Amino acid sequence: MNDTKCKNCGGNVDYDEITGIGTCQYCGTKHAAPQEEATEIQQQKTRKNFNIKNTRKSVTIRIIVIIIVVVAYIIYMVNLFH
Ligand SMILES: [Zn+2]
Repeated sequence: MNDTKCKNCGGNVDYDEITGIGTCQYCGTKHAAPQEEATEIQQQKTRKNFNIKNTRKSVTIRIIVIIIVVVAYIIYMVNLFH
């Protein structure tokens, strides 16, 4: 019913219409239903995007902290020489 290739050996995978589980004709590797796989890939993409957003946020916070420290240091040095 589906001409999906096996992830393990590249052979044809037969999908059980009732369970939706695919079995490789050559090596017998079990495969999740295509819909479930698509959902999993979508979830991974969403998780990746979430991580990128979080990383950007933490980088911005780090830059702000560095600027505050540098400004505080400059103020301290100026006060020291006056
Ligand atoms: Zn296989």
